Amino acid sequence: MIAGIDLGTTHSLVGIMDSGFPVLIADADGRRLTPSAVWFPECGEPVVGWPALEKKPTHPSLVVTSVKRLIGRRVAEAAVSSSGCAVEAGPDGGVRILVGSLSLSPEEISALILSKLKADLEMSCGVSVDRAVITVPAYFNDAQRSATKRAGELAGFTVERILSEPTAAALAYGLDRLGERARVAVYDLGGGTFDISVLELNCGVFEVLSTNGDTSLGGDDLDAALAKAWGVARFDAEKIKRALTDSDSVEFDHHSYLRSDLDAACLPIIEKTRRHCLRSLSDAHLETSALDAVVLVGGATRMPIVRRFVAEIFGREPDVSQHPDEAVALGATIQAGILEGGLQNLTLLDVTPLSLGIETFGGLMNVIIPRNTTIPCKAGEMFTNAVANQSAMSISVLQGEREMARDNWPLGRMDVPFPPSPKGQARVGVQFELDANGILHVLARDTASGRDTVIDIHSAVEVSDEAVEKMLGDSLEYAFEDMDERIFTEAKLKADEMLPAVDSALNALGEKVPVEIRSAISGLVQKIRSALEARSTSDLKTLLGELDTLTEPLATALLEQTLA
Ligand code: ADP
Ligand code: MG
Repeated sequence: MIAGIDLGTTHSLVGIMDSGFPVLIADADGRRLTPSAVWFPECGEPVVGWPALEKKPTHPSLVVTSVKRLIGRRVAEAAVSSSGCAVEAGPDGGVRILVGSLSLSPEEISALILSKLKADLEMSCGVSVDRAVITVPAYFNDAQRSATKRAGELAGFTVERILSEPTAAALAYGLDRLGERARVAVYDLGGGTFDISVLELNCGVFEVLSTNGDTSLGGDDLDAALAKAWGVARFDAEKIKRALTDSDSVEFDHHSYLRSDLDAACLPIIEKTRRHCLRSLSDAHLETSALDAVVLVGGATRMPIVRRFVAEIFGREPDVSQHPDEAVALGATIQAGILEGGLQNLTLLDVTPLSLGIETFGGLMNVIIPRNTTIPCKAGEMFTNAVANQSAMSISVLQGEREMARDNWPLGRMDVPFPPSPKGQARVGVQFELDANGILHVLARDTASGRDTVIDIHSAVEVSDEAVEKMLGDSLEYAFEDMDERIFTEAKLKADEMLPAVDSALNALGEKVPVEIRSAISGLVQKIRSALEARSTSDLKTLLGELDTLTEPLATALLEQTLA
């Protein structure tokens, strides 16, 4: 099994494929989000997550948050000096974080977060999970990606893939909802960072066309602005902000706060995302109209003002079908599932993709279960012998949409024995049962003896998309030829039956048939023979109709003669 991990600046999540479904794991308290916070108590082991976050206000120097801002960075970089963390340079110039009496690398601290997620995961599924897919922002450079991979390894994972966050979000949004070729913008406003990416999906593979953003713009900045505007602590500002996402006004500490005031304080900050969006579109050489979807991720995109703003920039309503906190982790888990090989390009079946039937006399396809029938299902038909004294019926099971048996796919064959009998006397029932697993059970019963013959066919519905497409395409392309051939074959079978019958009736009745009738009949029979030779379907049908009418009195006469 492979874990899918969103190692976020503010929050982290882990998921796994469970019997074909991506599921995110909750910790012992039922929470799926784990704060990316680590508390280093004066004595004892480091603590990760909610308890660490709670210690932040009282023990700021012992709690490390937002370590993602420092991973893979060098001390000289601006992002480091503005991080607010106490740091020193490692021997290679890389960042080391000073916490209490310790000096730790960002990957060592990230590894503690990953270890906690690993432990929660293993607790939840009861086995050890040693492989992982970990997401990183699209803008992460090689050093940041390598450091993230090292963090995974320190936590005991083999890192199978470092995946871009917007790609993960697009995977969660669903390949099935996008066409063969689609373009998606992913607008991700998290706690401390803003990322905008434009992706192109081409035959199941995503490519990041452009990415842009601001690594110091996020929900935290909104909290700071609100704290100032309202004169409250940042911690409280964050709580009020969340509450105002769902209502227009809230009461907090005997004060009332309005969403309209929040909007006014936040708009200038949210406005800053506009130029990144426009830049990202122009880098991708795309107009907003060329996008198939705008997907929102990141906790702050829950805010109504953010949604309105995105709608205005992109000239369309953003897609909010994804859980803003969970989309990236879900996508990482889906990627893990793809790597596990559990996802295969098969038609997802709850209906039969193609018709199932048997070959009947004259090489025709006789459909028993039509395509698009919901499974499980059962259907059957009764057949008779086409030739006198036949002592077995050979049943050829077919799949496909073509009229002639030979153009469909043979699935299996069985011989059903029955006592020799005159033509049309034997009765063989053929039943097709398609079970919930897609296995076709073919049952043939000679009704006279009650004897059953059974075969099971396992490959009845496991057909690739392409093969189904081709079969359907061919059935349309050859529709006229196919139908013509079926009608001709049916007419020929009728002629083969009628001509000998007419012959023997004429013989039996002898003189009783008036000369003009006799010569009219033999004239028609001549024409029918040449129509058969010329394979002229429409002539054959008309002539057989005429022969029917002309020979009707013969049948009556024959009957009278027999009775007399
Ligand atoms: P990251 O990817 O950086 O770890 P998240 O996607 O978890 O970040 O987003 C965290 C941010 O989302 C925080 O600033 C938090 O205040 C904000 N947030 C979460 N829920 C809400 C909400 N209901 N309304 C407004 N902001 C929210
Ligand atoms: Mg995130």
